[in-house]
Amino acid sequence: MAKLALVTGASRGIGAAIAETLARAGLNVAVHCRANRAGAEETVRRCRELGVQAQAFFCDVSDSAQVDHLRSEIHSAMGDPLVLVNNAGVDAFGLLTDTTDEEWRRVMGTDLDGVFYCCRAFIPAMVHQKWGRILNIASMWGIAGASCEAVYSAAKAGVIGLTKALARELGPSGITVNAVAPGVIRTDMNARHSAETMDQLREETPLCRLGEPEDVAAAAAFLASEQAGFITGQVLGTDGGYL
Ligand code: NDP
Repeated sequence: MAKLALVTGASRGIGAAIAETLARAGLNVAVHCRANRAGAEETVRRCRELGVQAQAFFCDVSDSAQVDHLRSEIHSAMGDPLVLVNNAGVDAFGLLTDTTDEEWRRVMGTDLDGVFYCCRAFIPAMVHQKWGRILNIASMWGIAGASCEAVYSAAKAGVIGLTKALARELGPSGITVNAVAPGVIRTDMNARHSAETMDQLREETPLCRLGEPEDVAAAAAFLASEQAGFITGQVLGTDGGYL
C-alpha cells in the first residue's frame, strides 16, 4: 500500500511542488495549509492527476491544539503519515531593534513552534511502524544569518538544531530526520523584493539563476525516499552554491 505523506504549507510555492513531486513518486498526500482553500485544492487536483490519493487539510501550525486536531482529521480520512514535510513558514524583514514582540512570536510560532508541534503529533505513528521520514524546510539564512532577517534566521537555525537532535533521538526507531536549506527560490515569499534585488541575488548565486520550487522538491523527495535510508541529521543546501 502507498505510504502517506503530509506536506504542510502546500497551497503554493515550495510546499505545492513537494506535494506534487511526492505524488509523482507514488505517495498519497495530505495537502495542508493555513487558509488558502483554492490553492490547496489545486495542489490536491494535481496530485490526484498523478494517480494517488490526496486531500486538503487546514490549520494554523503555530497553534498546538489545531495541530493535534489535524492529526485526528488526517488519521480518520487517510491514515497516519509516515513522511512528514515541515514546510509551512513565514518570514519577516526589518531591523531587530524595530521588531515587536508580536512579530517575533508570529515568525517563531510558525517557523519553529510549528515544526515542534507537527513532529510531536506525527512521530508516535512512525515509531509504531519503525519507519519514518521527517523533512524540515530550513533556509540558508538559518546557517549563515541574514541582515534584517534576524528573527527568521533564528527560527531556521532552531529548525536545524531540532533536526540534528531528533535524528539522534529517532534513529533507533528507523526514522530519518533531515533538513533542506534553500537559497533564494522564486515564490510569493520573495514577492516583496524589487526586480533589482532579485537580479543582484541571482548575480551572487554561482549557478547564475534563482531557484525554482521544483529544485527544493527534488532534494526533499530524495531525502524522503527509501534510497535515502542511511542519511540522517543532514542539512542539504539547495541554494545554487550561494553559501
Ligand atoms: P509561500 O509564502 O509561497 O507559502 C507559504 C505556505 O505556508 C503557504 O501554504 C501558507 O498557507 C503556509 N503557512 C504560512 N503560515 C502558516 C501557518 N501559521 N500555519 C499553516 N500554514 C502556514 O512560501 P515558500 O513556498 O516560499 O516557502 C516554503 C518554506 O520554504 C518556508 O518554510 C520558507 O521559510 C522556506 N524557504 C523559502 C525560501 C524562498 O526563497 N522562497 C528560501 C528558504 C526557505 P496559506 O497559503 O494558507 O497562507
